[in-house]
Amino acid sequence: MDVIKESFYNLTFENLHSLMRENGFNESATSILFNHYYKKKNSDPCSKDISLSTISYLNKNFDFTLPEIDTVHESSDKTVKFLFKLKDGKKVESVLIPFHNKYSICLSSQVGCAMKCSFCFTGTQGLKRNLETSEIIGQFLAAWHWLKLNRPGEEKILNIVFMGQGEPLHNFDPVKAACEIFVSQYGTSIGHQKITISTSGYIPGLARWKDEIPGVNLALSLHSPMEEKRNELIPINRKYPLAEVLDYIDDIPLAKKQFITYEYLLIDNLNDSIEDAMVTGELLKGKRAYINIIPFNPFPGSKYKRPSEKKIASFKTALDTFKIPILVRSTKGDDVLAACGQLNTSD
Ligand code: SAH
Ligand code: SF4
Repeated sequence: MDVIKESFYNLTFENLHSLMRENGFNESATSILFNHYYKKKNSDPCSKDISLSTISYLNKNFDFTLPEIDTVHESSDKTVKFLFKLKDGKKVESVLIPFHNKYSICLSSQVGCAMKCSFCFTGTQGLKRNLETSEIIGQFLAAWHWLKLNRPGEEKILNIVFMGQGEPLHNFDPVKAACEIFVSQYGTSIGHQKITISTSGYIPGLARWKDEIPGVNLALSLHSPMEEKRNELIPINRKYPLAEVLDYIDDIPLAKKQFITYEYLLIDNLNDSIEDAMVTGELLKGKRAYINIIPFNPFPGSKYKRPSEKKIASFKTALDTFKIPILVRSTKGDDVLAACGQLNTSD
């Protein structure tokens, strides 16, 4: 019977370093391996500068395969949506979002999501399981290899956002370990501030943020400052009310020029009035805030509608009076159902 090996990509630098030491191998193999698999992003086995016994130990004990690309949808605006097949057959999606021949990648952290937000396609399938660190890193590496092959010269993924399937803070340890590998100087060497984790306001994760993942950018899915509306949109607001969520967020130290992003999903006739804008402005004024307005992306069977361009513009104008920086997010990848909140892999 085949023994299921652990994925190499689950190991942080510290994990690998301890493993090398405990097994009596040269500790310098750690940086050599990280350099080989993450900095240079080689997919063939590492054979240079490390001993044969280390190579055979790794081959015997670890699996080096990446999530398999099941399907790829390329949008006319160059957005790419990947459907990955994981080792247990479950599927998960990631999206490459282009800007000037470089890319941001939107990663999934779970298969499905337990939070059941009423506007979210992913939420409709419930939580199937958490992703392992290797499956998070694996989305990034597999997407990078796809770019190298299909858009040579464009294999530059400079930003990472955890805005795909799942609530990243509900799968804290693997997400944290993936961030450690992303920022490691021997790994992909992506700066903390190039990584953004979006949360619906899951307090057990926010409570760990400042000690365990300091420096990473935080985006809060606010969507409404009003209790009843937020309860309807994000059911965990009942358990973790916004006021408490904001207390935790206000406590996170920010670097110079660092902001908290507040995402505001704009839904027709639900949270798009001038009053909604004014209450939101009052709540956020004086904070190191950046507002990201996301017009609702419809999906099959969704009960909400996207507001008209005119309504979106009036909402923004009302909020502008508070002098908080605001961006209305364009909906790249709409044509292949790759925009945020449209990720569902239940079929
Ligand atoms: N679970 C995390 C991160 C994944 S969702 C969170 O909720 O923050 C990423 C973003 O997509 C969130 O701001 C979420 O509210 C938004 N989103 C979900 N469904 C959407 C939809 N149908 N249209 C537009 N944005 C949506
Ligand atoms: Fe989960 Fe985020 Fe979707 Fe809510 S919006 S169900 S937290 S993925």
